[in-house]
Amino acid sequence: MMSRVDRFILSEALRTEVLVHLLDCAPNEGAGMIGAHSPQETDYGTIARAAVFVPGRNTDFSPTHYTMDPLDVIRAFRLFREQGLELGAIVHSHIASPATPSVTDVREWNYPEAMMMIASFAHQPPELRAWRIVEQDRLSRVQRIVIENG
Ligand SMILES: [Zn+2]
Repeated sequence: MMSRVDRFILSEALRTEVLVHLLDCAPNEGAGMIGAHSPQETDYGTIARAAVFVPGRNTDFSPTHYTMDPLDVIRAFRLFREQGLELGAIVHSHIASPATPSVTDVREWNYPEAMMMIASFAHQPPELRAWRIVEQDRLSRVQRIVIENG
């Protein structure tokens, strides 16, 4: 299933949690997962609300690549299940490049039902963007999703 979400609601507190964890991982890329409530269809598009952030370890210890520790992935899915949530977004950081999916990010993307969220520390303040990867005619297309503070 592909993500249908048009707008992702992220509280200021969760946004801060995400950025603090990713900054802690610097100068390496950091990773994590956001659990969200089921998306709601509205007149303004399909909206999902973030509920919880699970920080992950980057087992690559690399400034240009990440692999989230499989144990952290399992821990995150268990927590989401317990709380009646679903995987909303997988987050990672770009230390020196924009908050845009790289070719590698798109090629290695295994969760088409979720959003890809990227924090860029290339400039201050950090920038946080969300994307969905849509398969069309065997091509991957990257579409930006609005992140709303709420
Ligand atoms: Zn990336």
